[in-house]
Amino acid sequence: MVYALRASCNVKSKGEKVKIELSDKLKKLPPYLFIEIDKMKKKAVADGVDIINLGIGDPDLPTLKPVIDVMAREIYKPENHQYPLGSGLPDFKKAVSEWYKERYNVNLDPASETMALIGSKEGIGHIHLAFINPGDVVLCPDPGYPVYNAGTVFAEGEPYFMPLLQENGFMPDYTKIPADILKRAKLLFINYPNNPTAAVATRKFFEDTVVFAKKHNIIVCHDAAYSEVYYDGQRPLSFMQIDGSKDVGIEFHSFSKTFNMTGWRLGYAVGNKEVLAGLATVKENIDSGAFHAVQRAGIAALKLPASSTDEIRAVYQKRRDTLVEGLRSLGWNVESPKAAFYVWIKVPSKFRNANAEAKSISSELVKYLLTKCGIVSTPGVGFGSSGEGYIRMTVCAPEARLKEAVDRIKKVW
Ligand SMILES: *Cc1c(COP(=O)(O)O)cnc(C)c1O
Repeated sequence: MVYALRASCNVKSKGEKVKIELSDKLKKLPPYLFIEIDKMKKKAVADGVDIINLGIGDPDLPTLKPVIDVMAREIYKPENHQYPLGSGLPDFKKAVSEWYKERYNVNLDPASETMALIGSKEGIGHIHLAFINPGDVVLCPDPGYPVYNAGTVFAEGEPYFMPLLQENGFMPDYTKIPADILKRAKLLFINYPNNPTAAVATRKFFEDTVVFAKKHNIIVCHDAAYSEVYYDGQRPLSFMQIDGSKDVGIEFHSFSKTFNMTGWRLGYAVGNKEVLAGLATVKENIDSGAFHAVQRAGIAALKLPASSTDEIRAVYQKRRDTLVEGLRSLGWNVESPKAAFYVWIKVPSKFRNANAEAKSISSELVKYLLTKCGIVSTPGVGFGSSGEGYIRMTVCAPEARLKEAVDRIKKVW
């Protein structure tokens, strides 16, 4: 029997390899734009250049100590060693709901209106699978965090990119979206404080979003990863503070940027219970939840007094001022961000005029800064075509390095 079976199969001979072919979906993802810059960066490092990395949005400060202390205890407890399962520990969900009450005066039912995620990126990348059928449209900000589009492609949806323009405060203009797109649109992603533009949403914009979503029957996903990275004491709004927001969508939150916990992989979503239930069903089928010890550390983070994150904000604010004032001293026209740890810089006209033939002026400036100054930054076009003409620098580097970056540019500018 076994022999017969083997004989009937077209068994590949020894040494012959299976042809590995990527799926059409993977092929459809835009090429990873940062590859060329990464290659140049690696070469510079190999050549012994002292690189100042203002490219990546990853806090350089350590996770707060009280959070690490809880993790150190929890990791020894065998009850934390099993599959987490479900949408989060009841204690975690309760802590999320209490945090929302304290910070935003928003009431959330812990059981049905909150859920844990393995980092907010995980939820943002998976939610499409719950609601998108082939050909459904997903409204994505341009420039924007690449995961909104990647999730769309994986679910065989169709992205529609809404330009974020400076004259609109980098908020999308819903009136510019064509009627045939609106008819097919099922999901809308918005993100404030915004990556990469550092824009903050107005209450009016959030209110308009609720009206727009109800009118066209679109689920809203608000990515609030930077809600706690704000300056000058001006705390950004939650979408959940807007009347009717729970009728139309959810909000994603992260521990990464708020508590310097990018490596821990913990986030959460709150809001409309049917939307959360859809996401939970997707997750039940592909992951088994966030490590309980990490959730317990997350609870500790959420229960910290607001003053502990004040210190993080103070550090970023000082760095922001150093970088913005430094760049302005070069004659660059730079807006000082009100939130997020990015400075979104319009390519100075002096550079634009000197490189009129460049295909992408933002990539050209990024290459210039890398090769002439050893500074890594990110071309705006990497976040979408409307990001062309801008570059993004982070303040995730010590003040002395930011000063040094400005000094290096001064020497060649
Ligand atoms: C960093 C970032 C996230 C992801 O955060 P994780 O919780 O670490 O997955 C989500 N959205 C935006 C816009 C971000 O910049």
